[in-house]
Amino acid sequence: MIDNDRRKFVKKGLFGLAVLPFGMGVLTTKAFAAMPMLDPNAPNAKALAYTPDVATAASHAAYKAGSSCSNCNFFNAGTGACPLFAGHAVEPNGWCQAWVKKP
Ligand code: SF4
Repeated sequence: MIDNDRRKFVKKGLFGLAVLPFGMGVLTTKAFAAMPMLDPNAPNAKALAYTPDVATAASHAAYKAGSSCSNCNFFNAGTGACPLFAGHAVEPNGWCQAWVKKP
């Protein structure tokens, strides 16, 4: 009887460990999804000429053809975060004048 209970306990424990990474993935995805998008009208966004649509940045003096948040060294593709705008996500197709080519 005790052996059966131990087996069940061990099986459930192993199953729990096996599904833990999937549970963590769901939790982290929800945590990242909670990060608000950067408001292009926020003072810090305006200071760096941030736009959520790179097509509108072509006339900016600092714009380089082909540049966007998605290929910027500061962009975190997993979270959408940009450390220049802490606590906010930026659009992958966005741009700002602090763009630095991803190596
Ligand atoms: S620093 Fe890079 S990732 Fe951040 S907003 Fe500017 S272009 Fe986008």
